[in-house]
Amino acid sequence: MSEFSLTVDFSSIPDGERAYIEGEAFLSEIETPTATLPLRSPLHYEIQILRNKEDFLLSGMVSAVLEYPCARCLESVDLALSGQIEATYKKSPKKISEEEIELEDLENVIYYEAMTFDLSERLIEAILVEIPSKVLCKEDCKGICPYCGENLNNVAEHRCKIESELSPGQFLSALKRIAIDDTDSNNNQNDK
Ligand SMILES: [Zn+2]
Ligand SMILES: [Zn+2]
Repeated sequence: MSEFSLTVDFSSIPDGERAYIEGEAFLSEIETPTATLPLRSPLHYEIQILRNKEDFLLSGMVSAVLEYPCARCLESVDLALSGQIEATYKKSPKKISEEEIELEDLENVIYYEAMTFDLSERLIEAILVEIPSKVLCKEDCKGICPYCGENLNNVAEHRCKIESELSPGQFLSALKRIAIDDTDSNNNQNDK
């Protein structure tokens, strides 16, 4: 799925002991269901795995700098993120009810059959959950002009030229942009 894998064989950890894994993954981007996010730094991870008989307690942190669009002006922002990983791996019992599985799932318990795991997806997930719901290039980002799309941060005072100076093509694409922005609120506004 992703271009990086981090396979760890838990069985190599002696009972009662810890394993430390630290490293960097050089990914060009992370795929999410809704976007492809370029990486501006390696994905750095530090993981500790503690073995207690057949249980493995995984904890650690992961950090990376992602390129993310500003919610207002759409310019790329370097977003430095760090996330935590925590999970318990338990040997899969012979019989386990659906209910039990659901309950354990909430507590981040993973049942294993074999002791070898690829932890890469888990690391990437830990980063993605840290993305704020609204990313801004700066607190007071002025956004873009809704008529012509000009980035309002780059101009001291923007006076839109939509009526006087835009060519018909630019005018049309500006209108389309407005129509797209308005689709939620006014569906039946324009009959003509
Ligand atoms: Zn912005
Ligand atoms: Zn404008």
